[in-house]
Amino acid sequence: MTLTASEGVYRSSLLLQFPWLDHGFGGRKAAKWPPERHAALVQVHGATVVTASEPGPQGEGDALVTSVPNLYVTIRTADCLPLLLVDPSQRKVAAVHAGWRGTVAGIPTKAIAAMGSDPSDVWVAIGPGIGPCCFEVGDEVAREFGASGRQCIDLFAYNRQRLIDFGVPALQIAGEAPCTKCSPDEFHSFRRSREAAGRMHAAIAIRP
Ligand SMILES: [Zn+2]
Repeated sequence: MTLTASEGVYRSSLLLQFPWLDHGFGGRKAAKWPPERHAALVQVHGATVVTASEPGPQGEGDALVTSVPNLYVTIRTADCLPLLLVDPSQRKVAAVHAGWRGTVAGIPTKAIAAMGSDPSDVWVAIGPGIGPCCFEVGDEVAREFGASGRQCIDLFAYNRQRLIDFGVPALQIAGEAPCTKCSPDEFHSFRRSREAAGRMHAAIAIRP
């Protein structure tokens, strides 16, 4: 397990190697990111990447990029995968929301393109989301993943492979995280709780 939990926030050992970075995946106990330094999107399960230069609402989109120090780019999820990206050579970061639609649309690699990064420079941590144990889909969604009929889809593996195919070194991807639906004490899950599900906040920032 490459995620370590402290006070309800899960941090990736892969990203902790960068001392100038602050990051984490919130769990059921809400993570407290500084509200006055917080940039957020209206998420629409699309593939639009937005670049943030100041705190506050950033419009519609599903990936938020910044190079501004002390600005927390944030993403809310409950089963969809949160991905946190960093390019140390350019000191740019991104927070990405990838449900099955965003996964199929390749939003993590679109975020790398929007960062203007060489994929070989990018490090990625994938946070808690719905696992292949619980993400059963019908034929229509399965076909989007090159399968057919009722299937269990592994969004973690699919996103990881897509990043590798794009040129991100496998050793720079922390691609395993707990299943949100399987861990009711730790995580919110839309598939488990439906409309009553809360949301978890993932964030990344360049320290001032
Ligand atoms: Zn599960």
